Amino acid sequence: MNRVYNFSAGPAALPVAVLEQAQSELLDYQGTGRSIMEDSHRSKAYDAVHNEAIQNLRDLLDLNDDYAVIFLTGGATGQFAMAPMNLLGEGQVADYTNSGAWAAKAIKEARVIGAVNVIADCEKDMPARVPRVDELQYTDNAAYVHITSNETISGAQWKEFPVTQAPLVADMSSDILSRPLDVSRFGLIYAGAQKNLGPAGVTLVILRKDLAERVSDSVPLFYRYKTHMAANSLYNTPPCFPIYMVMLVTRWLKEKGGLAVMAESNERKARTLYDLIDAGEFYSGTAMPEYRSTMNVTFRLPSEELEAAFIREATREGMTGLKGHRSVGGIRASIYNAMPEGGVNALVAFMKEFERKNG
Ligand SMILES: *Cc1c(COP(=O)(O)O)cnc(C)c1O
Repeated sequence: MNRVYNFSAGPAALPVAVLEQAQSELLDYQGTGRSIMEDSHRSKAYDAVHNEAIQNLRDLLDLNDDYAVIFLTGGATGQFAMAPMNLLGEGQVADYTNSGAWAAKAIKEARVIGAVNVIADCEKDMPARVPRVDELQYTDNAAYVHITSNETISGAQWKEFPVTQAPLVADMSSDILSRPLDVSRFGLIYAGAQKNLGPAGVTLVILRKDLAERVSDSVPLFYRYKTHMAANSLYNTPPCFPIYMVMLVTRWLKEKGGLAVMAESNERKARTLYDLIDAGEFYSGTAMPEYRSTMNVTFRLPSEELEAAFIREATREGMTGLKGHRSVGGIRASIYNAMPEGGVNALVAFMKEFERKNG
């Protein structure tokens, strides 16, 4: 077996210890004689998995009883629709910040549901950035304020969150659980699992419970947070296996020491890469230094030919997934929680050597 260092933006690398655990109990889950994949979602074995996944998330994020943890399907993209369906009433306006490609997609979908006011727009700014907290021009009585905490494609990340009158809603798909978070500042947080939580197929929603009551009677039962909250995410068959993987990943995070420990490691990994990028002229970062993501490190080389050679040679050396998003090009190294520091050190050594040969 030959495992690569996988720098893919998503689906992304999972901790090896988690994959090994899943492998070891794949055929016979804890003496049940079947895989957890083959078990009823109402079984005792699955029930324990489901509730541990929820409890681990509650522990890691220090959630109080005002908040519900909900598992859904449909990805963060599904939440682009579901959030306004539940929270944006007739005659109301939702404030959105446009920080890049993902925020723009959220805005496009919200506009199908209701009135949207874009209160800051730096989607096309180069170097990439997210809005400054002091440039947001809130609408009076907005239904909510939406942000994208980390723009996975551009590599720009909110370092400080705005303090809002209206509930703050955040797409945290690519940086949830990467750093400690004061959830009490948020009304709703959602994230597709396949960056930092587990495999694709499950979507995490953290909701301040009182907001679930806002939904209009015209919204189908299935698309109401309230429905899934009341059923502990068992209204219909949940994505059992992805939730099992989230349970293992969150258990692993707790064993590692939790989010403060992860944040330190993530900062260290990101700094190692950005320091090298800043050290010379060969590599140039594409996000503004104050907003550089600790999760997706984006940079360019002097030419597209060199970028293609970089990706080709890195792949040959066992470092994959480094091609920037097809919409922007360049290089993107995604270094989520599961990327070990050794992987970043290997990439840095490769980058130094590549610059020496081609610089
Ligand atoms: C990947 C990503 C999405 C899309 O997630 P899906 O699960 O594919 O719907 C949305 N927002 C951000 C910030 C992402 O990184």
